[in-house]
Amino acid sequence: MLTAITGINWGDEGKGRMVDLLSQNQDIVVRYQGGNNAGHTVVNEKGKFILNLLPSGILREDVVNVMGAGMVIDLEHLCREIGRLREAGIQIGSKNLKISDKAVICMPYHKQQDCLEEDRLGSAKFGSTRRGISPAYGDKYMKKVLRMGDLLDQAYLEERLDVILPWKNLILQGVYGAEPIKRETLLSWLKEFGDPLKDFICDTSVYLEEAADQDKRIMFEAQLGALRDIDFGIFPYTSSSSTISAYAPIGAGIPGRKLDCSIGVMKAYSTCVGEGPFVCELFGEAAERLREAGGEYGAATGRPRRVGPFDVLASRYGVCMQGADEIALTKLDVLSGFQEIQVCVGYEVDGQPLKNFPTGAALKKAKPVMETLPGWNQDISGCRSWSELPVQTREYIRFLEKQVGCPIRYVSVGPDREAYLLVEDEKR
Ligand code: GDP
Repeated sequence: MLTAITGINWGDEGKGRMVDLLSQNQDIVVRYQGGNNAGHTVVNEKGKFILNLLPSGILREDVVNVMGAGMVIDLEHLCREIGRLREAGIQIGSKNLKISDKAVICMPYHKQQDCLEEDRLGSAKFGSTRRGISPAYGDKYMKKVLRMGDLLDQAYLEERLDVILPWKNLILQGVYGAEPIKRETLLSWLKEFGDPLKDFICDTSVYLEEAADQDKRIMFEAQLGALRDIDFGIFPYTSSSSTISAYAPIGAGIPGRKLDCSIGVMKAYSTCVGEGPFVCELFGEAAERLREAGGEYGAATGRPRRVGPFDVLASRYGVCMQGADEIALTKLDVLSGFQEIQVCVGYEVDGQPLKNFPTGAALKKAKPVMETLPGWNQDISGCRSWSELPVQTREYIRFLEKQVGCPIRYVSVGPDREAYLLVEDEKR
C-alpha cells in the first residue's frame, strides 16, 4: 500500500503532524524531495521536534525512514539534526534510517551561492531560505553535483570534486567576485560530516522495491505544498523540486510504482512564507490577529508568515494537482473566537472572474473575492468527534469540502498527536 501525504497549499499545512499521526500504521516513511529549506514541527509524548531533513516517521521506533533520491542533503545540517534527536533519546541507526546513494549533497558553496544571488537580486529577490537548495538542484540538472553514494569511495569522490570545483570557482569568482573555495576545505567538510552518515547510505530503490513486493505499507512525505511545486506552483516563487504526489514514487526511488492513496493536507486558512503573489493576503490588525492565533512563524527560519483566509481557488487547484483522494484539514481550532470567518471564494482580473487558478501575469494582477461565513464562539480544541463540533464549525467544514471537491477525512484541532477527529461518512 503506497500512500502519499502532500500539501494542498503553500506549505506549512501541518504535514509533519499528519505523517506523525498516520505513520502509526506504516512500515516505512519516505521523504522524496527538497532539503532543509522547510521544517516539519511534530509534538508528541516525547516532546516537540523540528525536522528539516529527516522523515517524520523517525519519531516512531518501529518505522523505517528513507531519504529518497529526489532529496538534496546538507550533510552538516543532517548530522546536527540526528545529534539533537539522539540527545532527546530517539534511537537512530542503519535499521531505522536509510539514505539513498542517489540523493544530492547540498554543499557549503551552494549555500554561499544562494546568499550571493539573493543579495545580487536585491528587491527582486525570491525570498530564498538561503540554504543552497536552488543552486543544488540547478547543478543537479547540469550533472555537476556529488551524490551521497560518492561518499563511499574516496577516490571517486575526489575525482568528481575535481571536475566540479574549478567550474564552481569560476562562477563564484567571475559572477560574484567571491573568494575561490579550497579543495582541502571541502574535503575536510565532506569527511567531518559525511563519515558519520556512511552507515545509512544504500541503494534505497532495492530496499523499497522489495518492501513494496512484500506489501509493506509505505508512506511518502512531501515537504512544502502544491503551490510551491517547481512546475505547477506560483513560479518563479516556487521551491526547486516537485512537491506533488505524482513525483513521490520517482523521488523515493521506485518510479515504476503507482500510488494507492493520496492524502492532501489542507489548512483551515492560508499562510505563505517569503515572496510571491498571495492573492488572499490579509494585512494590518486582521493579519496580526490570525498570525498570533495560529503561531505562524517559520519552523526553519522563524520568519513571520504571511496570512490570509482560506483560498478556494488555490486550494481546489492544489487538490487537483495532488490528485487528492481525501483531505486532512488542519489548524481548525485557530479560527475559534473569530465572530465571522472570511473566505476567499475566487479571483478577479480586470473585473473579470476567473474559473481556474492563474499563473504569471494574471496571478500577479488577480484580486480576491471574499465571502463571510459565521464563526463559532467556542473552543473546539477538546473535540474528538464530529458530533462534538459546533454547528457553525461543521458548516465551515462542509463548505470547504464542497468548494474543493474532495472529502475531508481528518480534522486537526490542536498540535498534539491526539488532537484530531475522524469524519466518518455515516456520522455526518
Ligand atoms: P508542515 O511543514 O506542513 O509540517 O507544517 P509546520 O510544521 O511548518 O507548521 C505547522 C504548525 O502548526 C506546527 O507548529 C504544528 O505544531 C502546528 N499544528 C499542526 N496542526 C495543528 C492544529 O491542528 N492546531 C494547532 N493550533 N496547531 C497545529
